Amino acid sequence: MSKPALDLRDVEVVYERRGRERVRAVAGASLAVERGQIVGLVGESGCGKSSLARAAVGLVRPTAGTVVFEGREVTPLTRRARARELARLQMVFQNPYSSLNPRRKIGSQLADALDALDLAPRRGRRARVAELLELVGLLPSAAARYPHQFSGGQRQRIAVARALAADPSVLVLDEPLASLDASAQAQVANLLVDLSRRLSLSLLLISHDLAIVRHVADVVSVMYLGVMVETGPTQPLWSLPLHPYTEALIGAVPHPDGRGFLPEALPGEVPDPARPPAACRFHPRCPYAFDRCKQEDPLLRRVAPGRTAACWLQTGSGPPARPAEQAQRLPLLHTEE
Ligand code: SF4
Repeated sequence: MSKPALDLRDVEVVYERRGRERVRAVAGASLAVERGQIVGLVGESGCGKSSLARAAVGLVRPTAGTVVFEGREVTPLTRRARARELARLQMVFQNPYSSLNPRRKIGSQLADALDALDLAPRRGRRARVAELLELVGLLPSAAARYPHQFSGGQRQRIAVARALAADPSVLVLDEPLASLDASAQAQVANLLVDLSRRLSLSLLLISHDLAIVRHVADVVSVMYLGVMVETGPTQPLWSLPLHPYTEALIGAVPHPDGRGFLPEALPGEVPDPARPPAACRFHPRCPYAFDRCKQEDPLLRRVAPGRTAACWLQTGSGPPARPAEQAQRLPLLHTEE
């Protein structure tokens, strides 16, 4: 099997808070994005997804672990060096308006992205700008307009076009749909899938919205309080979540009639990452917690082909008698223990 396009191993990111408190925003997380694959990274706000994304593109230095992109270790670089050396690893942020210059036309801003890497000769630049705009579903005439003349969804398309200017092999997208209305979200989500398939582009899509990730991703990784708790192909994971947190997130996805189940399925909030609960970090909120969960940390392990989970219930070591209905929702699979 070929090596992943982007490979994060045991990444840890530690921040200092108020100059004295150490916060492990990412506490040893691993994730791989294969070539042409769309990986969705989900979790509640504050779980460390954005810190992991920033480490993935070299914007923050991991305090431990490695990030390897196309066989090379990613380390933080100056902005100029990063633009050249990590050109094929691009990031798209949540708010495209803040990353576009409001005083310059879109065409000039896309041309700048090409110039920075000498990617289009002066004579071919206008044609390449038109091509980039068409790739993201905009008319070439958009080049002559200013950012404020576009809707939020169109601006996010422009941000994607600018990332594509560098001819990337991997795009890391941090909540790219969060600021859009539902209709624009669906359109941009479809565009991302289309681009990934047409250009063999790998995507790491960070989102708190599991419904979007279900629609877009081939594989889902679920993060809780700085660690991965489950990974697997989207459809099996959605049909049969193997970690109680994944189950709760899926239960919280609103139904078409507007109902959602988060308050019942998952009480409380994500604990402060500076003081994570001992042993299984999820145990204070887990409806299935038992004694071992408060004493030992369940490491992420393979529990079925293509699937990993960090939960004692998946190792055959859970309490012997569980309600039949719970056992049906979280069946024990084989373990490598
Ligand atoms: Fe819940 Fe225990 Fe599994 Fe943690 S290890 S998710 S507390 S059942």
